[in-house]
Amino acid sequence: MELLVDIQEAWPGQGPQPSLHMADVLIAGGGIAGSTLAILLGRQGFTIELFERGEFPKEKPCGEGLMPGGVAILRELGLLEASGGVPFYGVRYHFGGQTAEGLFPPSTSLPMTGRGQRRRHLDQVLFQAAAQTPGVSAHSGVQVDGPLVDSGKVVGLSVEGEPRRARLVVAADGVHSRIRHALGFDAPVRRRRLGVRGHFRLAVNQEQSPWVDVFVSRGHELYVTPLPEREVLVAALVDTEALGGSLERAFQHWWKAEPALAARLEGAEQITSLLCSCPLAGRARFGSAPGVVLLGDAAGFVDPITGGGMTQALQTAKLLAQYARRGLEKTERWIWCFERERRTLLRDYRALTQMVLWLADHPTLAERLLSALRVSPALFSHLIGVSAGVRTFFRSESKFWRASGPVKEGPMGNVH
Ligand SMILES: Cc1cc2nc3c(=O)[nH]c(=O)nc-3n(C[C@H](O)[C@H](O)[C@H](O)COP(=O)(O)OP(=O)(O)OC[C@H]3O[C@@H](n4cnc5c(N)ncnc54)[C@H](O)[C@@H]3O)c2cc1C
Repeated sequence: MELLVDIQEAWPGQGPQPSLHMADVLIAGGGIAGSTLAILLGRQGFTIELFERGEFPKEKPCGEGLMPGGVAILRELGLLEASGGVPFYGVRYHFGGQTAEGLFPPSTSLPMTGRGQRRRHLDQVLFQAAAQTPGVSAHSGVQVDGPLVDSGKVVGLSVEGEPRRARLVVAADGVHSRIRHALGFDAPVRRRRLGVRGHFRLAVNQEQSPWVDVFVSRGHELYVTPLPEREVLVAALVDTEALGGSLERAFQHWWKAEPALAARLEGAEQITSLLCSCPLAGRARFGSAPGVVLLGDAAGFVDPITGGGMTQALQTAKLLAQYARRGLEKTERWIWCFERERRTLLRDYRALTQMVLWLADHPTLAERLLSALRVSPALFSHLIGVSAGVRTFFRSESKFWRASGPVKEGPMGNVH
């Protein structure tokens, strides 16, 4: 199957006429970004078709720590209770025998805790809420083949060989986006990193931690997230070049080499097999074009090292829904305005992620910086706030929260 389909060639006569069954918006990918957008647009009265190739509940390799900015959006959606999860108060870094605690910054209006929750649960809650939202037709187990193009504009999607048309197509199909690739929007990824994760159930005598713990070592980082039912997620991020031999063996070796982590996992049972994602990054030359917007990881993802990917997916879905409400009826100028605002929203977060990635390559400098942050808790907390999606480098509250206001509660507000 061709990835990019010219509608005139594939289905002559389908081009210029409006289809009888045309939705307002077609969304490829029912992950965090796609399902959230479907809920928000459905509540605004649009007709949406949402296509997800997987079946729920499904696993997704992730660190499973949702930052406070993401928690705020789940709360606005009315889905915080259904999402559940274990609260954590910040990120604690362990390096060279030292520990530095970065608390999420205080706020009067935003949550001050993140949530640790299994993706198989969180993604299912969001997809189900989308499916139950009036105006949304949500299909799981359905693969999108690629975009439909007519006279240089994206006018729909080819879905399992069938053409579907809409006024707007949203590619929320993840970091290895098929639609981004088909449109020729892929940009080269400079660095090949790999992420691998497994779940453990703590022994009865072990306490759950109220932190996401990050163990920084030469060549890799380990993320440890508290989860409900005494479960703990351990994720490792590593350069593929640094890997030799069995990944399973390397993973066991890494966590056992951290005395604090090894002590915490003593007597713990590994309850899931390892799941891996590679490459971790995805880059897009453009985030949108006439008729199409890329959303979430599909629009570009730097690295999970700062743990904000889910939050960025939720925030940008909210932003897109706000622009679509104002503009879907009018000209397409709104897409470029959305694009500009999204870039501003993500700028500091992405810069911070690049800096942390650079520091991971320069461990001596990283250790010095973390030592300095240990004695400047307010500065450390501010930077953690940038990664949490609630602050920018120069603002104590991201403009996004002051400008956007809460999302509209819909009839699905109390889904459980
Ligand atoms: C190892 C690792 C650790 C991470 N840790 C964290 C963390 O601790 N905190 C955090 O916030 N973020 C973390 N992230 C990032 C986070 O997982 C992503 O940023 C987030 O999932 C992005 O959501 P999304 O909806 O854009 O994409 P996804 O969640 O990937 O959803 C895309 C969906 O599209 C579907 N799809 C793909 N192709 C098609 C198709 N052709 N047709 C139909 N459906 C399709 C997929 O099945 C999937 O359900 C981590 C990522 C990795 C890899």
